[in-house]
Formats: sequence, structure tokens, C-alpha cells
Amino acid sequence: MSGRYQVRPVFPFEDRGRRFAFVVDTAAFVEVDEVGAALVDHLACNGTEVALAALHESLDARHGRGAVAETIDAFRRLEVLLPPEIPVITPEARVPIRPGAASLVLHVSHDCNLRCGYCYADHGRYGGEAGTMSPETAVAWVDQLFDRAGDRKVIHLTLFGGEPLLAMPTVRAAIDRARARARASGQELRLGLTTNGTLLTEDVARYLMENRVTVSVSLDGPADVNDRLRRFAEGGGTYQAVLDAVRRTGIRAVARITLTRRSTDVARIVRSLIEVGFVEVGAAPVATGKELDLGPAELAKVLDGYRALAEDLVEWAKRGKVFPFSNLKAVVSQIERGETRGMPCGAGIELVAGDMNGDLWACHRFVGDARMRLGSMQGGVDPAARFEFLQEHHMRTRPACGGCWARFLCGGGCHHIAHVQSPAGVAAQLDASFCDFLRGFYRLGLGTYARVLEEAPEVLSRLVGEREGCSQPTGL
Ligand code: SF4
Ligand code: SF4
Repeated sequence: MSGRYQVRPVFPFEDRGRRFAFVVDTAAFVEVDEVGAALVDHLACNGTEVALAALHESLDARHGRGAVAETIDAFRRLEVLLPPEIPVITPEARVPIRPGAASLVLHVSHDCNLRCGYCYADHGRYGGEAGTMSPETAVAWVDQLFDRAGDRKVIHLTLFGGEPLLAMPTVRAAIDRARARARASGQELRLGLTTNGTLLTEDVARYLMENRVTVSVSLDGPADVNDRLRRFAEGGGTYQAVLDAVRRTGIRAVARITLTRRSTDVARIVRSLIEVGFVEVGAAPVATGKELDLGPAELAKVLDGYRALAEDLVEWAKRGKVFPFSNLKAVVSQIERGETRGMPCGAGIELVAGDMNGDLWACHRFVGDARMRLGSMQGGVDPAARFEFLQEHHMRTRPACGGCWARFLCGGGCHHIAHVQSPAGVAAQLDASFCDFLRGFYRLGLGTYARVLEEAPEVLSRLVGEREGCSQPTGL
């Protein structure tokens, strides 16, 4: 046995009297006893290398040589302690060497019938002219998606806007074509559509349900919250119209909440949307760089709300039920899978966005931002532009990430939010208070996972789902 070890960073934490160690590089997560906790504390204070003799010297007197040796051995198996000849490998970005992408977000409409107070997309126009994509262009995008996807097993197509239901013939053309192509190729197709919900009719809902489209409805909570900012172009709140449409059509929809400085009571909001019948609810803080963005005090309130919702999740799990709050489900599921992230999401890697002019973008939020144009419908993803995008956005370019215990759970945070929050002269960096919020969220995820594992482990397999290309808002 070697006399020296390299030490992987470990994040120690306590939850309701139990002590845990989370291995930063590998996302391994274990409960530790008193000796393990003492070893973790020792390692946390003693740099990236340690001598076996020093460990025994520090711990034997209190815990006994045999118990210390056993614990050191367990930490070697966990790869927290590595012999010097073994290279320490950390998760890196999946550098795409394959052309194409598995996931296309299609901007079928750059127009909207609402005027939400926080819209990041210029009320659907993304800085350009209002308009909708022609059905022929949508079909061409879908063909390019399948032609370039090669033998990828699962293809994702999301219809997006502005408001996509303003372009229903285009939505139908894209979905019909994608289904035909998937039937022919034998690939699995996952369809999604994000809507404000005000234009849902029985006809539209039937078509979407028949085609197994996951419908996400943007709604910010009960009327007193939602109607402050989500308003029709001609005035008036949207809550009742959306709820009536969802109920009348019977559509099984997911609700997507945007949290703002004026709406931080996320526990009340999420519970109310679950109560009125949404099959799942997810939340994300607004990030536009304007006055509605959440500051440290509001983010702390949101985290308190998430803690209350974690209690709900554990209580539901004890009754054998899955609490349908996407954010916590996603993080618990990520921890259960031991999934590390070298990048926060699929943007520019396996996820791209296409617009009505045939331009291809790093993701749906970057449409219209010239720095984020990665190619075209005709030419596909330009490898040089993609390489540059990934180089610029890898978390190793964000100094704060290097010392952050949550870095391989987080992957460096949403690039779009990073751009919005970056100080002048810095390419993409999240605000320190937002990172505190993210770390608080991941810390809560670890604690919640440990509780479900202890109290209702049979529910864990039902929380595990496929990771989305965009990690906003599921898990942030
Ligand atoms: S929480 Fe912040 S510092 Fe930590 S990995 Fe995420 S973006 Fe980086
Ligand atoms: S997490 Fe952010 S950068 Fe990534 S796909 Fe989603 S919106 Fe785009």
C-alpha cells in the first residue's frame, strides 16, 4: 500500500443529525460514521495530498487504529484517496465530435398575444420583425434534424416561440413530418411545445394529445400573482383564461413558473398549481438584467420555499407518491444517477435552436444574439463556431467554479443567465449571490435525496427521468 495519496475534494454536510460526504468530482454520495466524518474533516483541511502516516497520527488515538484503517480503505474504494500513480480524472464537457444534434427547438412564431412584464424575447420578436415560420421551412428544419442526427436513438423536437399556437399550421407540419421521419428511421421521437396557454382549443389539444406532445404552459401562480405580469396585449390578466382552457380541453399540461422580485412565495405558487391539476410544475427565476430580477434577499426567500417543498416531496414519498415539482425531482434524480456535468446543459452540444430565417443558434434563449449563431439550416452546425462557443462557456473559464463544491452537479450554470449577470468586460459569469442560491439548491437536493433514500427508497426509481437538453428550469 502506498504511503501517500492524492485527495479528491469532498463536500461534508449534516442533515438532521446524520453526516454525509459528497465527492465533488464523481458525485458519489455516502453517509459517514464518526470515524468517516473525522477523516473528511481532516482531508478538508490538508490540501490535495496526504500521507497515510499523517492520517493515522491524527486519528488513531481517538478512534482506534483498526477503525481508521478500515475507513481509509473505504475512502480508497470511493476514490477519494488515490495512489499517486493513478491520474485524477474530472468530468469534462462532452466535446461533440459528431455533427448534428439530438434536440431542436424550433421557433415557429416570433409573435405573441401577451405582453408579459419580464419577457426576455421582446414579446416574441427576439429583436427582429414579428412573424411566423412557414410550414415548408418547419418541414425543412425537421428533415435537416433527422438527416444530421445519424443513428442517435432519441430525437427531441420542441415547438417554441413567441407563442407557437399562433402558427398552428406550422406546428402541425413540423410534428407530422417528425413523426413520419421517426417511423421510417425507427428512432424514438420526443415532442414538446411551450405555450402561454391562452389559445388552446379542443381541436388543438386533441391534436397535441394524440401526438403525445408534452405541453408546457407558462403560468406564474394563482391569479393575484400571475396577473400582475402575465397580461394580454390588449390588457387584463391571463390566469382565468389559461385555467379555463386547460380545464375545458382536458389537456395534461406541465406548468412553468417564472419567479420575479415580486413573486417569491414559491411554495404557495407551486402548491396552488398542483392543486388546480397541472401534472407537473417547475420554476425558474427570471433573468433579464432588469428590475424584476431577484436579488440576494429574494433568492433566499425562494430557497426557503424550496425547503418547504422538499418537506412536501418527502411526505408524498412516504405515502408512495411522487410530488410533481420538477426542480427537486430533477436534482434528486441527478444525485440518484450519480450524474456529473462538465457543462450545465446541452446548449450548442446536443441542443440547438432554429428560426424562421434558417439561422441556427446555441439555444432557444440566444436566438437573435449574433455572438450565439452557430450555423444555418442548410449548412448545419458550424464546427468552428461550436468549438468557440464551448471554449468560451466551459466552466473552467469561470474562476468561481474552480473552487465550488457543487461544480460537477451544476456544470457552471445556465449560459444565458451568466451572460445577463456578467459584469462589463467579462464574457459569461454568474453573480455570486446567484451561485449561493444554486449551491443552496444543490445542498437541499443532497439532503432531500438522503431523506427519501432512508424513508421511502422505493419511490426513488419513479423520480428518475431523462435529463432534458435544457436544464432550465428543471434543476437550473
Ligand atoms: S454554483 Fe456558481 S460557482 Fe458553483 S459551479 Fe455553479 S456557476 Fe460555478
Ligand atoms: S440552461 Fe440556459 S443556456 Fe442551457 S439550454 Fe437552457 S436556457 Fe439555454
